[in-house]
This record gives sequence, structure tokens and C-alpha cells, in this order.
Amino acid sequence: MSYSTYLLKGQKALVTGASSGIGESIARSMAASGAQVAVNYHSEIQEAEKVVDDIKAASGKAFAIQANVANEDDVKSMFSQVLKEFGTIDILVSNAGIQKDSAFVDMTLDHWNAVIGVNLTGQFLCAREAAKEFLRRGVQPDVSCAAGKIICMSSVHEVIPWAGHVNYAASKGGINMMMRSIAQELAPHKIRVNAIAPGAIKTPINKSAWDTPEAEAKLLQLIPAKRVGDVEDIAKAAVWLACDESDYVNGTTLFVDGGMTLYPGFRENG
Ligand code: NAD
Repeated sequence: MSYSTYLLKGQKALVTGASSGIGESIARSMAASGAQVAVNYHSEIQEAEKVVDDIKAASGKAFAIQANVANEDDVKSMFSQVLKEFGTIDILVSNAGIQKDSAFVDMTLDHWNAVIGVNLTGQFLCAREAAKEFLRRGVQPDVSCAAGKIICMSSVHEVIPWAGHVNYAASKGGINMMMRSIAQELAPHKIRVNAIAPGAIKTPINKSAWDTPEAEAKLLQLIPAKRVGDVEDIAKAAVWLACDESDYVNGTTLFVDGGMTLYPGFRENG
């Protein structure tokens, strides 16, 4: 995939959960678009360093940074290291996320708290630190017409209920109102806050849903586009939401789902 290097030229980005899947692709795509990228990882140091090495090999600038986004001290320390390394930050992509699935009545409080902790509280902690820096620094017209951009990784399950995944769907539903409330509060400061809601994208988080022909065929019944999404489908949307081409877009969730939220089951059964 090729990007114009001007789209994010001179901008500094932090992508959480960037050692695999969607986050990795966003980190690579933002670097290819001219951004310097902090590649956050939780435990996969080798994978994160590979992303950094590849970006550097392509003449980009990146570094890997460990943090558990659900931990306030970790997040504060991650932001101070990013500011030390880059001087400031222009783009936050809050992408890290987990699933811990079970039937509702079997769901443990630990699994509920773990998913809410990473998927919702983690995004709150990162957005708060990013916003502090955006407000402190303000607009740099030679870099971007916004003082900063926050992209929250949501899911089609912010609107589609998901049996067996109550903690996950609740976390993504929470992202919607958190994102829009932050956007409303910070818009006067020229800070843009949006979300991306992926449909089914081939990554480690949902491998069992697409890694056999039978599983993939079942999944395709839910996708009018008749293909499972690729990480690049989401990365392209993230680059666009982060760049000035989308300057008039604020407080919106961009669904990148091959039509999954068109509820295709209703085409003939409604
Ligand atoms: P993934 O498992 O490859 O990526 C998740 C990343 O988050 C991993 O790199 C993981 O190490 C990191 N992470 C987990 N806990 C963390 C923590 N406490 N601190 C920091 N990082 C942590 O899966 P993915 O599909 O790339 O998921 C990325 C995001 O996209 C998630 O928020 C997920 O909910 C969302 N999403 C994915 C799909 C899909 O179909 N793949 C669909 C909708 C939404």
C-alpha cells in the first residue's frame, strides 16, 4: 500500500496496541504518510521492535514503548517518554483492545473488569493525557490546522448487541459516548475526536472466526461486501481521520465494516 508522504508530514503519533493486527498496520501506514510514530506494546516487545525496525528501514522515525494502557501510572509515563522523544504529540490512536468471552451468566467479574479496563478505561487514560498536551501546545499551523486528533478504536459492536461478549460490547458502546462527549468538550480548542468501528478484520483477536473455510463462510453471511476486511482497510481510514483532509469531521464514528451494520439478515427476512 502506498501513501502520499505529505498527509501526516511532520506530525507525531502514538498508536496503542501497535505490535500486531490493526494497530501495527496503522503505525506502519502513518509512518508511510510522514508521521513519526511511537509504537506502544503491552508484552510483545520483539513484534513491536520489528515494526520500528521496518519503519526506520524505510527512512521513517519510530520507537517502541511498553505500557499497559489500563494502568494510569503506565500511561502517564508513556506520555512523558513520548513527549521527551518527540517534543510533542499530534495524533493519538487508542487502539489496544482485548476480548474475554463467555456466556453472560458465567462471566466473571475479573473478565468484565479486564475488558472494560483495557478497552474503555485505557482509552480514557490515553485520551486525557493526549488532550492535556494538545491544550498546552495549541495549533501549529505549519503542522496541522487542528491542535490534535484522537482516534478511538471502536467496533460494530458499539451498536450491534453481541451475545457471549457482553463485556466487549459494553466497552465499545461506552467508547461511543466517551468519544462524542470528549469531542463536544474539546472542539472549541480545535481538537478533533473521532472513532473507527471496524467490522470483521483478519487479526489475531478473532482468528477462530476466519481461519477455517467453514468459519469464514459463516462469517461472510454477515458481510454484504462478501470479504473479511484487511488491516489496511482500517489503516487507510485512520490516516484520513488523522490528516487535515478530514478537518471538518469531529465526533463521528466511521464504520469500516463491508456493510455489516446494514444488518444483511433483514434483506430477505425482515
Ligand atoms: P490484536 O489482538 O492483534 O490487537 C490488540 C492489541 O492490543 C495487541 O497488540 C495487544 O498486545 C494490545 N493490548 C492488549 N492489551 C493491552 C494493554 N493492556 N495495554 C496495551 N496494549 C494492549 O487485535 P486487533 O483486531 O488488531 O484489535 C485492535 C483493536 O481493534 C481492538 O480495540 C479491537 O477491539 C478492535 N476491533 C477489531 C476487530 C477485528 O475484527 N479484528 C473488529 C472491531 C474492532
